[in-house]
Amino acid sequence: MHIIFFGPPGAGKGTQAKLLSSYLGIPHLSTGEVLRSKLNEKDELSNKLKHVMTSGNLVSDEILNKIVSITLLTDNCKKGFILDGYPRTIVQSEYLNSFMDKQDMIVNKIINIDLDDKNIENRITLRSRTENRTDDSLEVIRTRIIKYNNETKPIAQFYKSKYPLIFFELNGDQKIGKIHSDIINIVKKC
Ligand code: AMP
Repeated sequence: MHIIFFGPPGAGKGTQAKLLSSYLGIPHLSTGEVLRSKLNEKDELSNKLKHVMTSGNLVSDEILNKIVSITLLTDNCKKGFILDGYPRTIVQSEYLNSFMDKQDMIVNKIINIDLDDKNIENRITLRSRTENRTDDSLEVIRTRIIKYNNETKPIAQFYKSKYPLIFFELNGDQKIGKIHSDIINIVKKC
């Protein structure tokens, strides 16, 4: 099964993608997590990444497309995968589309977890205290929300109109367990 999660920062898509990954026994690819792990490598690339990520901006499509295509071709992803945080731009969605076509893969479900801007700010402020994430200051959060609304939300809308039967929207302002059980019901519908 191939699943894509959409949602603004702080909506809980990472948490839900992880829960679903254990439920289905397929890997969860969080591009944000992959990039954060690269920051520890202390080379030229990590300096560039740090600069972009700590300002709330998006890392280049070229880097992202490379990370995703390399990962999705590993044996680990043979039974399926869950994408969390990718695609985030038109270039990435076009790349994913042609990559999946070439590999004879189709997207099975698209799950969009929504949350309003005020709730996003509150949640991320809380998360920055508990997880100590450097991309979680208020100014950076606002840039991240703007990036999401301008660049990624239109991609989610595009998928919604192109694949209405496999596109599901959930309200992120609910208990984690409730959202998880709704998602399980969605993936059970084949
Ligand atoms: P996330 O954990 O998904 O919120 O991602 C954290 C940060 O990593 C983002 O603010 C971006 O700087 C970068 N990032 C993650 N995924 C992508 C992507 N698909 N395209 C561009 N930048 C990304």
